[in-house]
Amino acid sequence: MASTFVRRLEGKVAIITGAASGIGEATARLFCKHGAKVLIADIKDDLGEKVCKELGQSSASFVHCDVTKESDVETAVNTAVAKFGKLDIMHNNAGIGGVANPNILEIEKSEFEKIISVNLVGAFLGTKHAARVMIPNLCGNIITTASTCSKIGGSSSHAYTSSKHGVVGLTRNIAVELGKYGIRVNCVSPHLVATPLAKDFFKLDDEGCHGVYSVLKGVVLKPEDVAEAALFLASDESKYVSGHNLLVDGGFTIVNPKFCMFE
Ligand code: NAD
Repeated sequence: MASTFVRRLEGKVAIITGAASGIGEATARLFCKHGAKVLIADIKDDLGEKVCKELGQSSASFVHCDVTKESDVETAVNTAVAKFGKLDIMHNNAGIGGVANPNILEIEKSEFEKIISVNLVGAFLGTKHAARVMIPNLCGNIITTASTCSKIGGSSSHAYTSSKHGVVGLTRNIAVELGKYGIRVNCVSPHLVATPLAKDFFKLDDEGCHGVYSVLKGVVLKPEDVAEAALFLASDESKYVSGHNLLVDGGFTIVNPKFCMFE
């Protein structure tokens, strides 16, 4: 029987920041599987080059890019256009967890600014430079990885939660501005995934991460599941979705399990 697999990003060109590891890496693999050319933009050169090699030179390419540096982001966007001819999808995914200190009296301004700089300013720069090349083409798709911390308080540091609330605000504002150019702008918001970022921040191993509460008993959130949500937002199947924050959280943010009438 003939295969019914449909390549949902055939002919598309994507940049994914932070794709040398974790959720971004899984997304790069899935986007390539669906026919996209992917530029991996990360500060981890060895890991990024390794992922590209595995995906094949014709499908994926690496560019060193620190998302806090505007010149790096500008170069990454220009590289995608020079190498693949255009930019259809910008996925602002790079992020850091920082220090898990819940005491505001002890938090240094520099630590707060470091998280905001990568998670929020990095997304702003990616969005800005993607828009620069997407506006003349009157189409494009910008996705930022937020978090369940964009929806609720108390499950991460002040800086991280602020940065993730911030990217949702940025997404909504930019979606309003860029809609007239046919550019869609959305967020994907995962619950806890056992990546280096989460394991390091929460001091949990894989099993510890998998045990964190959701309403879906026995279901484990993997980087590949978040990649599937990003694929939906990146593909034409979501053609009328813009300014949206797509939670991939197993219902985590809809209930307080300590005050709940259901067993
Ligand atoms: P990860 O550590 O596996 O990957 C993060 C990647 O970002 C790494 O490859 C790292 O090198 C890169 N990066 C860090 N700083 C960068 C910079 N300045 N410039 C460019 N690249 C940089 O972690 P992950 O969990 O896959 O994180 C991906 C995104 O998902 C982040 O935005 C994170 O906040 C978000 N997120 C993660 C979880 C989770 O539980 N893992 C949950 C919600 C949201």
